[in-house]
Amino acid sequence: MHPLYPHLFTPLDLGFTTLPNRVLMGSMHTGLEEKKDDLRALAAYFAARARGGVGLMVTGGISPNRQGWLAPFGAKMSTRGEVVKHQNVTTAVHAEGGKICMQILHAGRYSMHPLLVAPSPLKAPISPFKPWGMSQRLIRATINDFANAAALSREAGYDGVEIMGSEGYLINQFIAPRTNHRRDDWGGSFENRIRFPLEIMRKVREKAGKDFIVIFRVSMLDLVDEGSSWEEVEQLALAIEAAGATIINTGIGWHEARVPTIATLVPRGAYAWVTKRLMGKLSIPLIATNRINTPEKAEEILREGYANMVSMARPFLADPDFVRKAQAQQANEINTCIACNQACLDQIFKGKTASCLVNPRACQESQITNRKSQIVNPKKVAVVGAGPAGLSAATELAAMGREVHLFEASGEIGGQFNLAKRIPGKEEFHETLRYFGKMIEKNGVVLHLNTRVDADFLIKNNFSEVVVSTGVVPRTPNIEGIDHPKVLSYLDVLLHRKPVGKTVALIGAGGIGFDVATFLTDQTPSHSSISDYQSEWGIDAQYEHRGGITKPQPEHPPRQVWLLQRSKGKVGERLGKTTGWAHRITLKSRNVQMWNEVEYLKVDDAGLHITVKGLPQLLEVENVVVCAGQEPMRELYTPLLAAGIKVHLIGGAKEAAELDAKRAIEEGFQLTISE
Ligand code: FAD
Ligand code: NAP
Ligand code: SF4
Repeated sequence: MHPLYPHLFTPLDLGFTTLPNRVLMGSMHTGLEEKKDDLRALAAYFAARARGGVGLMVTGGISPNRQGWLAPFGAKMSTRGEVVKHQNVTTAVHAEGGKICMQILHAGRYSMHPLLVAPSPLKAPISPFKPWGMSQRLIRATINDFANAAALSREAGYDGVEIMGSEGYLINQFIAPRTNHRRDDWGGSFENRIRFPLEIMRKVREKAGKDFIVIFRVSMLDLVDEGSSWEEVEQLALAIEAAGATIINTGIGWHEARVPTIATLVPRGAYAWVTKRLMGKLSIPLIATNRINTPEKAEEILREGYANMVSMARPFLADPDFVRKAQAQQANEINTCIACNQACLDQIFKGKTASCLVNPRACQESQITNRKSQIVNPKKVAVVGAGPAGLSAATELAAMGREVHLFEASGEIGGQFNLAKRIPGKEEFHETLRYFGKMIEKNGVVLHLNTRVDADFLIKNNFSEVVVSTGVVPRTPNIEGIDHPKVLSYLDVLLHRKPVGKTVALIGAGGIGFDVATFLTDQTPSHSSISDYQSEWGIDAQYEHRGGITKPQPEHPPRQVWLLQRSKGKVGERLGKTTGWAHRITLKSRNVQMWNEVEYLKVDDAGLHITVKGLPQLLEVENVVVCAGQEPMRELYTPLLAAGIKVHLIGGAKEAAELDAKRAIEEGFQLTISE
């Protein structure tokens, strides 16, 4: 029995095969599925996770036919040629002792191409295309395509399949009255609406054989109007079990739902309660999902009887060795997923390959191999500034064998992450600093806190190369009265905790403006509880309504905030694709006034004088907080160069515009120091 995580490391006997532990690496599209490399990069990606000890993995969604493509020329399994490519994946995984299922996903009305189909011709609110209603013949052909894809995946060497029946994709569109308006045998009554998933399940089992894992992902909480009721979810799960499923996985929320389900503001394990409602009703294992990112949370979910297994997807982008480290009782070395979506889902939505903000190696496994080298006479390198860029550079360079001295002016590592972690809903940022702290220790970086260094010091101390990662300083806009006592910077508010009045105008509505607005309008200083989150977003924890949603009960903000920008576009337009909408809804529900086309005239005792779309206005506010971007801080650069020292500029010190932690960490990681 494992001393720390006994439930997590209990094997799961499926009858014809046994999983070594209770961790499923959940399905996640990375973009490697569509690469023209015979799936070799995808194979390397999964092989790394198999090596890390995860019990079972599921690929990103693979369509059973062309109509079901997520996007034109998306991944598909319907031909022998595709079988051969997928053999590269399964062979690599099995060589590492892992097990892998292929997810079969038909996108239905979420397909991003004009030939999309759905049970009824109803356009999804998040799609530009209206689907074609499916004929009965096409429905039967599609069921056969699912079964064919399962049989082919078995030929390709997969240990099983996952049938994607949730998140609002085709199968889910048949099940819910919201999207199924048919009047034939495939719509209307509940029995008719679930005919499609049941026929698929039966046919898949028939064609793929008995000794093949079939996971069915049931949408247990649709989070949209006219979704399934709880009674329907329960009946469907029982019927899916009877039709031959090996395991039932949990699906939470359709993609068109306006409730964040995986963003960092969602408390850990916030949806395990939904899976628990089904526990004891079935005889096959149940998997809990969403915002499970630590072994402690996973163990708690299993121990408290919420599920038989836990699914994590993004945490395996952040750290392929998650399971191995937990098993070795080294959980403090796990690079934790902070649920930011910045380098994974946001990239996928831009049509790019996913990676990970905290782990730039993710999805690059076939290119970046082991960079560790045995250096006999290591160079003495200085890294100045322990923000995300400096931390990433220092720990990587030390892992490669350099003697690294990391200098930080303040008393703690982290740079601006120490501000980010104070924003309600961004507490996960603590984990990245915990991880880097551990890597500093493990890789032997010599850390000098409370040490602001200058060029003279670095020159005198014979550093052969210097990495300047000194970050940024807040920009002070040129506005009359900007030195008025009522004007504060975001550092004053977040770092120095200066008191802020009941009426506040924020100059600048970028990522930091939004975060400061969230901070100033939040009632609770710490991470909200699951019940606070449920009431703020209208999640029906009693499950009395279809789809599990009810009226949101937003927080009463402690002050009135105006969030202002000069430019014309929608306020918050440049925030992340998969999270920006949730930040906008949060602030709107707290009555934050978001104004664009603002010109700042002056600040005086009366308040902030502005024009809005050319019309003069006075905001009679007690405070004005400046969140107007930043300027790079790189005063070390020129004198060091002049002294003939090799200097590397990274992160905010290199370029403040469009800077985020993804870029900062990646630049630190990419840095190489010559022998
Ligand atoms: P910094 O983080 O600015 O670090 C520079 C470090 O250098 C500092 O610790 C400083 O003390 C030190 N230093 C400077 N000069 C010297 C010297 N001479 N000697 C020694 N030390 C020195 N980004 C995201 O991607 N996602 C987010 O959700 C996000 N949220 C944010 C929320 C807030 C409230 C803030 C303020 C920022 C947020 N960011 C976010 C931005 C992100 O934190 C920055 O992009 C990132 O920190 C930049 O990293 P850096 O290492 O280049 O610089
Ligand atoms: P930012 O996103 O560039 O926003 C700066 C804001 O200041 C803009 O609204 C800009 O809008 C305004 N501004 C710029 N110059 C100004 C001037 N001279 N006078 C008045 N207003 C001015 O930068 P940031 O908010 O400081 O964030 C810094 C970085 O951290 C960003 O790259 C951001 O992506 C990252 N971050 C990300 C998140 C996240 O959730 N992903 C959260 C926080 C921060 P106008 O020019 O229209 O006025
Ligand atoms: Fe997690 Fe962010 Fe990495 Fe995505 S980019 S895996 S959300 S830490």
